[in-house]
Amino acid sequence: EAPHPNDQLHRRIGVMGGTFDPIHHGHLVAASEVQHRFGLDEVIFVPTGEPPYKQEREVSPAEYRYLMTVIATASNARFSVSRVDIDRPGLTYTIDTLRDLREIYPDDEFFFITGADVLPQILDWKDASDLWELAHFVGVSRPGHTIASNGLPAERVTVVEVPAMAISSTDVRERERIGVPIWYLVPDGVVQYIRKYGLYSPSRIPRVSQP
Ligand code: ATP
Ligand code: MG
Repeated sequence: EAPHPNDQLHRRIGVMGGTFDPIHHGHLVAASEVQHRFGLDEVIFVPTGEPPYKQEREVSPAEYRYLMTVIATASNARFSVSRVDIDRPGLTYTIDTLRDLREIYPDDEFFFITGADVLPQILDWKDASDLWELAHFVGVSRPGHTIASNGLPAERVTVVEVPAMAISSTDVRERERIGVPIWYLVPDGVVQYIRKYGLYSPSRIPRVSQP
């Protein structure tokens, strides 16, 4: 079959992993900024799998987090959401995310987007030395975090300043729990989805019980 004239051999794909509990405008602004700066064809959001045992905090079931991510990204033609991490049992490791995506997109170039505060920890990640072969790493700076990139391969890591957004999922969950507005911190559809299922507010009775 002849290739379509618009087919690109090597697309540039951003990969943004996260718990997304919930996804918020900090994530979306960071993805949009990196998409623009690096001329990415697509940014794939990858919600993490459900932790097998109780970790330090209870994470919302994967299906809610997946659907909130779909709602938040649906209107952007360059944004998509992958289920690779939520469909893989066990804890999510970035190396597995990138290997799974590499199988789906064998010829494309990956740019893994992460908070710059997380960058120094990459050296401790599972199979760290293989990570650099699979993707370029883009650290987005968050307010109040200085960037330490010593020890990281400079040619595979770039730090990008994004408009300061002091939004975190932790803060959104806490605000919802105590009844402080979360409008404009997360997309409107995500606010409504959180209320529909009573996420983060133990006292609120969900309007619908299953995602
Ligand atoms: P939590 O408060 O539960 O840790 P979070 O807000 O950090 O949640 P995650 O889902 O853990 O959200 O983040 C996914 C990715 O997005 C991580 O790489 C994280 O560093 C990055 N990130 C989180 N918040 C922001 C923000 N406001 N601006 C830019 N990047 C962010
Ligand atoms: Mg975090």
